[in-house]
Amino acid sequence: MTGAWRPKPPPAADLTGWQYLGWRCCWCAGLLGQGARSAGRAEGHSGAHDLSVEVYECDPHCSKRPTETGPA
Ligand SMILES: [Zn+2]
Repeated sequence: MTGAWRPKPPPAADLTGWQYLGWRCCWCAGLLGQGARSAGRAEGHSGAHDLSVEVYECDPHCSKRPTETGPA
């Protein structure tokens, strides 16, 4: 185990439609047909509308997933 740190997903406004719908990885935009896990909650809003949504990432490893020691 590497601890509880996890990167914060990109803001909802930066996601593609497929990422927003949870069909594609929120980091690399790859299809999540084989394995996926929750990456947390992408936050966003438009006027009074809360656009926050749970997004997903490749499981077990996404090469584009930020690391704790990597660049922000
Ligand atoms: Zn990925």
